[in-house]
Amino acid sequence: MHVFGLLGNPVGHSLSPPMHEAAYDELELDARYVTFEPDRDALEAAVDGAQALGITGLNVTIPFKQDALACDAVAVDEMATRIGAVNTIDFTGDRVTGHNTDATGALRALRDHDVAFEGARAVVVGAGGAGRAIAFGLADAGATVEIANRTEATAHELADEVPNATGHGLEALESLLVDADVLVNATSVGMEEDATPVPAEALHGDLAVMDAVYRPLETRLLRDAAAVGATTVDGAWMLLYQGVEALELWTGESAPVGAMNEALRARL
Ligand code: NAP
Repeated sequence: MHVFGLLGNPVGHSLSPPMHEAAYDELELDARYVTFEPDRDALEAAVDGAQALGITGLNVTIPFKQDALACDAVAVDEMATRIGAVNTIDFTGDRVTGHNTDATGALRALRDHDVAFEGARAVVVGAGGAGRAIAFGLADAGATVEIANRTEATAHELADEVPNATGHGLEALESLLVDADVLVNATSVGMEEDATPVPAEALHGDLAVMDAVYRPLETRLLRDAAAVGATTVDGAWMLLYQGVEALELWTGESAPVGAMNEALRARL
């Protein structure tokens, strides 16, 4: 039997177990997905222990995503190093490896909605963990990336690292969006309250708008975007595809996306 799991603290409300276990059922894979809550200072021991126990793969979430970069046992790949966070550990090869599937997951979520990136003008709001992953992903896929963040200095710092990117404060959003093709909210705004970081009047029908926030699924930003005829992509798509990418990395098989999506949305 394969054991997969999630390292985080807390992990009680995670949607990963039902999403991954739906995939095991569909693939007829003898496997379980278990959540683990090590102490904050016990990440290294947890990874060593997982390896010793023969665990196949782990997802990593708050507060361990950044710390996992410095784990001696984990060889971190280039994308996760650039993003500065590991969200997937793979124990199946000769070496334990660390990856970040948020970037590829976000791109797959957008591609799934017929969004193209080559030569596109993308605006990413937010420069935290999700914003970093999405900005690197979009740039690597060929887009020009405008990063707007509440703390403008953080946007500039990130833009210095991401190819073809420029940093801004949030007040630049209105002008940035005039000729933009893609807009992604990578802030937590919209999660706690019915609020949006983007002025509704700046949205237009030629935009594809993705919100990383997935609770609620229909954020104010997505409602505003739908009202002007923009393509909308909710945060569950990104959550789904980061899981799909992890599962494909661990198993080498194509993930049953439909079954995973159904299991995820049934709980949102
Ligand atoms: P984070 O690292 O803490 O970054 C938070 C970001 O939100 C920062 O850019 C911060 O700006 C901005 N922000 C916070 N409050 C704000 C406000 N009131 N007004 C304007 N900007 C504000 O968090 P994260 O890990 O990137 O997560 C961000 C969101 O993405 C969360 O809702 C999370 O659940 C979601 N997420 C979703 C997925 C998915 O798979 N769908 C994956 C990862 C994250 P400052 O720099 O100015 O503080």
